Amino acid sequence: MNLSTPIENIPRIGPQYQKKLKKLGIKTVRDLLFHFPHRYEDFSNLIPISEVKLGEIVSLQGKISEIGNTRTWKKRMILTQAIVEDKSGAIKVIWFNQPYLINVLKEGDFVCLAGKIALWEDGIYLSSPAYEKISNFKFQISNLTHTGRLVPVYPETEGLSSRWLRIIIRSLLVQLKNKIRDPLPEKIRIRHQLLPIEKALWQIHFPDSIKLAKKARERFSFEELFTIQILILRERLKLAKEKAVKIPLKLDLIRDFVKKLPFKLTNAQKKASWQILKDLEKERPMNRLLEGDVGSGKTVVATLAALNVAKSGYQVAFMAPTEILAKQHFKTFSELLKDFNLKIGLLTAEGAKLLFSTSFPKSQAISRKKFLQKLARGKIDLLIGTQALIQESVKFGNLALVILDEQHRFGVEQRAKLCQQKDYIPHLLSMTATPIPRTLSLTIYGDLDLSLLDELPKGRKKIVTKVIPPEKRREAYDFIRKEVKDGRQVFVICPRIEKGEKSLTWAEAKAVKEEYEKLSKIIFPDLRIGMLHGRMKPEEKEKIMREFKNKKIDLLVSTSVVEVGIDIPNATVMMIEGAERFGLAQLHQFRGRVGRGEHQSFCFLFTDSPAKKTQARLKALLASENGFELAEKDLEIRGPGEIFGSKQWGIPDLAMDSLKDIFLVEKTKMTAKEILEEDPELKKYSLLREKLIQFRQRIHLE
Ligand code: ADP
Ligand code: MG
Repeated sequence: MNLSTPIENIPRIGPQYQKKLKKLGIKTVRDLLFHFPHRYEDFSNLIPISEVKLGEIVSLQGKISEIGNTRTWKKRMILTQAIVEDKSGAIKVIWFNQPYLINVLKEGDFVCLAGKIALWEDGIYLSSPAYEKISNFKFQISNLTHTGRLVPVYPETEGLSSRWLRIIIRSLLVQLKNKIRDPLPEKIRIRHQLLPIEKALWQIHFPDSIKLAKKARERFSFEELFTIQILILRERLKLAKEKAVKIPLKLDLIRDFVKKLPFKLTNAQKKASWQILKDLEKERPMNRLLEGDVGSGKTVVATLAALNVAKSGYQVAFMAPTEILAKQHFKTFSELLKDFNLKIGLLTAEGAKLLFSTSFPKSQAISRKKFLQKLARGKIDLLIGTQALIQESVKFGNLALVILDEQHRFGVEQRAKLCQQKDYIPHLLSMTATPIPRTLSLTIYGDLDLSLLDELPKGRKKIVTKVIPPEKRREAYDFIRKEVKDGRQVFVICPRIEKGEKSLTWAEAKAVKEEYEKLSKIIFPDLRIGMLHGRMKPEEKEKIMREFKNKKIDLLVSTSVVEVGIDIPNATVMMIEGAERFGLAQLHQFRGRVGRGEHQSFCFLFTDSPAKKTQARLKALLASENGFELAEKDLEIRGPGEIFGSKQWGIPDLAMDSLKDIFLVEKTKMTAKEILEEDPELKKYSLLREKLIQFRQRIHLE
């Protein structure tokens, strides 16, 4: 047996358990050993029976002198009662509704028990204790599994008890004694005072003290972050060796473009544009993230970069996350570039369209085949589409810049897929409104340069944000009706559903349907109401969004799918149900969906939760309009795993959690740098190299 042994080959795990483990993503011995407890039960108070006190949690060791089942006639409950004695005395033990225990525990058995001392009519007793058999009184505490020590408690999962996991994990640890090799180089381990792997595994599952459990966790946090850092640094080094086309800065062209804009660029926009244009001049491929709050004006900055590239004779690809956004951007780009004599193409599931700036705003439909031919011959300057479409089969003649909108993942792969030229790769610009806390930008985004739009264009109206308690709901509905009568439109966002039995999207869809029924039949039977959720087909979603955009729908009930970049200037009310279930940064994103037009806009946060913490959290949203501040707060309160979803990255929960720790992030980054300088190919560190390969696979498997 070794770490890669599949769980099917572990003797004590039958098919039922295999299935349950796989649901948790546990496929190998390694996965099992790295399934860490989330807390410990402190049963280390091991005392003689004569010293027990009412209300205390204790561990006792003794011999069972009697055991048997009785039935309480009042509550129809089965009690298993036992007497356990040691040299100092005897105590009654009671378990409730576990009649099978008499088959496990027999008179004369030596046991260790752990639980709470409670009071019955005729005296004190040990209530429903955890139990384990011991051979005699001369046992070692370190050999105990469920009692007499700090006992691991694992995240709850249907049908997988902590007791079962403890037994399996313990026996694996025993079998693998001295066989687990450490991927962390020894000198790094020693320098940072980290536990060696085997000891750390023992101590994280069966700690001798809380302090050691913590040390163990520290070690694994370090290891995971260190691995991520190496991965990212190597990516960066690799990229630095690649070549891109140098795009000279056409200052007159840019001046002309800026002059023709209907507004003045903000200082933040100027600075970001400058950074991008300067990057494009280099032979090294740009890898830049343009990060700015909703409405901060990222599109103009992207357009300016695209213009400079197109006018230098190269092509630009712009990828939007949805079709409707692709169309929206096609319109915006066409408008902004109408005086510059370019050919702009739109490729969606519906078909292809081509627009010559000179005949703006008239675009012509064209067959997909012809479109692709033109593209391959370099006859289209700027291609706009969704990622799915662009990645499929599209060939460019001379692509020099890729722009990704609302793209939370690396982007490196998208670029790779678009690279058809052999001698150079395109520059990459990613744009996002999701503020990335500093610790994350140092790691996951560590291979990207960052430009910030930390300033909103002047003259934006503040969005009135209010927390609405249950008793004010009617008033809010009246207000909404008035807005609609005045010709405005409304978003209603339904709560995010926590993981239930069914899949997340299923539960969310249900919540939306219920809300839709309620609003359309009872509250607003006189209004036109639409519904949008993740279980709908893309075409259905597109259709609903189009109707909303064309004012055929007054009120749109939706899940968080509207979160990303859609522009409905006529919508003035954003109403969020179950607001306490969303993160602050996400609420802020929703709020950014309104206030895009000339009318005063409103964001109503509905919550039934009277909890002080919830109220305080929501108040932060009233106080701040700064997405970054809110994201940092979120990170503090909820941790990065919940904000970005570990799944989305394929990064272990532990690493995600340790991203909160800026010191650890910096330390691992430094260490990763040092080791790569010393040995870029990690020739001396084969175990670490192996770990990197596994890590990569995990990320790419998604
Ligand atoms: P986002 O960063 O959310 O993608 P957009 O690029 O869609 O924001 O810009 C939002 C709106 O602000 C657009 O209507 C755009 O024309 C406008 N805008 C952009 N920059 C400025 C500016 N400097 N002054 C005024 N309005 C601007
Ligand atoms: Mg945008």
